[in-house]
Amino acid sequence: MGGTFDPIHNGHLVAASEVADEFSLDEVVFVPTGQPWQKDEVDVSPAEDRYLMTVIATASNPRFHVSRADIDRKGPTYTIDTLRDLREAYGPDTDLYFITGADALEKILSWKDADEIFALAHFVGVTRPGYELSAAHLPADTVSLVQVPAMAISSTDCRARVAQGKPVWYLVPDGVVQYIAKRSLYR
Ligand code: ATP
Ligand code: MG
Repeated sequence: MGGTFDPIHNGHLVAASEVADEFSLDEVVFVPTGQPWQKDEVDVSPAEDRYLMTVIATASNPRFHVSRADIDRKGPTYTIDTLRDLREAYGPDTDLYFITGADALEKILSWKDADEIFALAHFVGVTRPGYELSAAHLPADTVSLVQVPAMAISSTDCRARVAQGKPVWYLVPDGVVQYIAKRSLYR
């Protein structure tokens, strides 16, 4: 599951858990993005903070893991590089599923080497309240849509809440609330 994870929130975790259940996945690997090229108009927290929040949020689940592939690679994150790195790390016999949000899946055709990435993984688009996804233009054999229990949480909203001094308890895992405070993120 790729994302900026600035911060990771319970919507991400529920989505990962649902997709893992639906597709009987052995593991979910969370891959925080490096320098986010599609978001360069907004400030993004340091990769190390986003990585550590993702580790904290996923630590209690034995099937959840975090990869440094994108944050350790130089330059902007392209999904094709992520998939190649994961393929190399997990070997040729592993089925890869790339989990992403409906909004990100819509942009899939704007990604570098869009045709090639479909050969590397099955794509799973998860829905969030307020996003309608039309998969009509996407290759049906390699793209699935999964409805996750409605959690109208976004990282943008979490950051805004912290900036306003409002609580993010129960929107993000407890350890992430504490990490945000400790590092004075989003103030
Ligand atoms: P931001 O508001 O900064 O864009 P975000 O909440 O969308 O953050 P990302 O790190 O961009 O978080 O999310 C990674 C992926 O998870 C995205 O493709 C996004 O659509 C999906 N996602 C985020 N929140 C939810 C949610 N509540 N339910 C389902 N999918 C979600
Ligand atoms: Mg987003």
